[in-house]
Amino acid sequence: MITRISYTRAQSIGTCGRAYRFRYIDRLEPVATSIAMPFGKAVHGPVTDYVIAHALSKPFDIMANFEEAWVKHTSDQQLKYPMNWDADSSYAAAKRLVELFPEAWEKAQLVAVLDQSGAPLVERWLVVPGPPGVEIELRIDFLVMDLRSGAIGVLDAKTTSAEHCEAFGSNALQLTTYQYAVDHAFASCLGPVANVGFMEFVKRKVPKGSKGQGPSIEPPTWYPRRSDEEVREMLTAYAIAARDIRDQRFLRPFFASFNSPCNLCDYARLCVHGDQQGYRLRTTSR
Ligand code: SF4
Repeated sequence: MITRISYTRAQSIGTCGRAYRFRYIDRLEPVATSIAMPFGKAVHGPVTDYVIAHALSKPFDIMANFEEAWVKHTSDQQLKYPMNWDADSSYAAAKRLVELFPEAWEKAQLVAVLDQSGAPLVERWLVVPGPPGVEIELRIDFLVMDLRSGAIGVLDAKTTSAEHCEAFGSNALQLTTYQYAVDHAFASCLGPVANVGFMEFVKRKVPKGSKGQGPSIEPPTWYPRRSDEEVREMLTAYAIAARDIRDQRFLRPFFASFNSPCNLCDYARLCVHGDQQGYRLRTTSR
């Protein structure tokens, strides 16, 4: 039997088996959603559509698209905000990020690669064979070509409150997975991926006056193509995740430090006190 596992699920069970079980087996989710997810979708949607229009040389009204996306992703749900943030400051920061994107994309000197049917390889779902008995399912954000060098890279867009560090980017299994999947799906027509990277949309409050940095879009951070050994190690990580799911081994993790990330876990109340209040059955499939 083949186990199909997405990058998100592999990451989830690798982080905490119990949280994986609450989310994917018991299908529970908190009633109040963190603003992080709708914020990310409301920025990501217009940006993605802009990159598609840019690759096809079509006009596109990114701000009108943002207004629609914001309403769609933030209406009719109970939202939780981080300390010192609220609905207005979140909206203003998201809007500023989207406003900044066309110039940031121009400066990055990138264009989305087209597939054989002429469609930009943006937000593309792929299913590729993994280690024996496992299929890996993932969605790539952007497969792009650098207009200066002609290099092909896989770029992941992240909305984040802090920029990532080099050690994280060099080790991120997400990027290794993207390289492996794109190589598998497109190497025969495009050749192997040259590099992998993140483009970060940094969430900061829009400053009231001229002081303060405000939201920013960082230039893409590229990492060289992962080695064969790194790809093999990534496949082993998927094999372990798939085995734990098949064997229903949903364990608490070894935490890295005394400051346990349980404090940040959406399922802490349920996990620690067995209290189901504040959770509901998840209706989405992923
Ligand atoms: S509270 Fe901690 S152990 Fe419990 S599900 Fe969350 S991360 Fe896992």
